[in-house]
Amino acid sequence: MDALHNPALPLTWRDGFARLGTTFATPWQATPLHDLQWVSVNHRLAQALGLPQDWQHRPGMLEVLGNGQPLPGASPVATVYSGHQFGVWAGQLGDGRALLLGESCPPPGAELGPQEWQLKGAGRTPYSRMGDGRAVLRSSIREYLCSEAMHGLGIPTTRALSLVASPDTVLREEAETAAVVSRIAPSFLRFGHFEHFASRDNVQALVQLIDYVDTQNFLALPPTPPGRERALALLEVVVQRTARLMAQWQGVGFCHGVMNTDNMSLLGLTLDYGPFQFMDGFDPGHICNHSDHQGRYAFDQQPRIAHWNLFCLGQALMPVIDDVQATVDVLNTFTVHYDQAWGEQLARKLGLPASATATASALGERLLNLMARQQADHTVSWRTLSNAVRDWTGREDDVTAFAELGRQLGAGDAWDGWLKDYLQAMRTTTSTPTLQGDAMRRVNPVYVLRNHLGEIAIRRAREGDFSEIETLLSLLSAPFDDRPGFEPYAAPAPPWAQSIAISCSS
Ligand code: AMP
Ligand code: MG
Repeated sequence: MDALHNPALPLTWRDGFARLGTTFATPWQATPLHDLQWVSVNHRLAQALGLPQDWQHRPGMLEVLGNGQPLPGASPVATVYSGHQFGVWAGQLGDGRALLLGESCPPPGAELGPQEWQLKGAGRTPYSRMGDGRAVLRSSIREYLCSEAMHGLGIPTTRALSLVASPDTVLREEAETAAVVSRIAPSFLRFGHFEHFASRDNVQALVQLIDYVDTQNFLALPPTPPGRERALALLEVVVQRTARLMAQWQGVGFCHGVMNTDNMSLLGLTLDYGPFQFMDGFDPGHICNHSDHQGRYAFDQQPRIAHWNLFCLGQALMPVIDDVQATVDVLNTFTVHYDQAWGEQLARKLGLPASATATASALGERLLNLMARQQADHTVSWRTLSNAVRDWTGREDDVTAFAELGRQLGAGDAWDGWLKDYLQAMRTTTSTPTLQGDAMRRVNPVYVLRNHLGEIAIRRAREGDFSEIETLLSLLSAPFDDRPGFEPYAAPAPPWAQSIAISCSS
């Protein structure tokens, strides 16, 4: 279909991924929910998309974002993909509870370029298998808030524009109610899309996908001839982006929880928020997904798993690349890119210059060990360090500003030794403590979406009070800014948080 403008929904729409045809996606309609109700909308994202101020109240908007009412110019589809789940080939999966509505074209001056719009929880699709195609309010609140929390932290992610609820019952471990999140991204392509066509020996489809990524410029690939070189260039960029994403997750203590290859974004976005968790007390081996009995997706395994997943992508591209050595060589650059990104991440977190990655890596790992020893709160520890640096006199023999962090980390010889080395490293930089501390406070957040904060918002929402969602959305979209009066949101988790169980069925 040609791109069309919709006066009610004032953007121009066209088929995005859907224009690749029925090999890749099945035209589909949502199954309506009853008595739709707005829970929250993300005005900041709406503005970035170029939507007018009153967009939420335009006629038909709730029906589009809750019930997938088709947009003029775009045909809704469910896409097919496959994947490895928990390290095992799972065969065909696909959008079992997601519906791709279409692609919006930005009006002049909009911050964001063309974006795909997807509804999560819009009903069964041809790929639902045994599932009901629904999402529950609980998990939808988590996805909605966490997308924006990640974006606020500067971490690549799919975004969330709206959260709509219905009183319709959805059965999980217990009876819950349905909700729909609208997700926005330049593309929802997953490693699994490529694995799917490779598993079917459909080389033509693989080439088509690679060319689509190139034409749409999702990965800003360098100019390459089609075929082998383009596929290698794609793999190279995905390796880089994934490595950077992993360093960013590790930097804020984000645990994804279910890093199956079908949950890996080709664009290097954080995708599919299910059993995720921001670390409270720092435990490198933390497993946030209660269904992950082996700890395959434990926090400290994430970079290694990402590398493993990239091998699945490399394997899928083999029919096009047709060169094992070249593929493995590209895949093996992951460690270099990850170490580099992690070193830079630690340098920023510690307030050291980007050139000091070796020193930063050593000091950062030692600090993380100190945190792990005490199970000190990850977010609070880094923020306390940032504040301490800001308040530091700059004299190596004056450690009063660091007393609070020392207390949090259990003090002792290891702490004293670390602090001595750290202050020495800081003294060699040309900046002032105030500037360094301020820079660190723009890297080490004060607010993250802790499990218990999400849980409180969920409990209130179930009683019909959505105000806590707004409070969190506001705090998490500016997570580096101290907000007077909101100190409890920055505090370590209370003991009851331990009892919150998060599983794949979320
Ligand atoms: P996930 O663990 O959420 O990444 O889902 C894995 C696969 O199962 C994907 O293909 C999903 O679309 C599908 N799926 C998950 N939950 C449901 C559901 N409630 N109904 C239908 N399909 C689902
Ligand atoms: Mg998924």
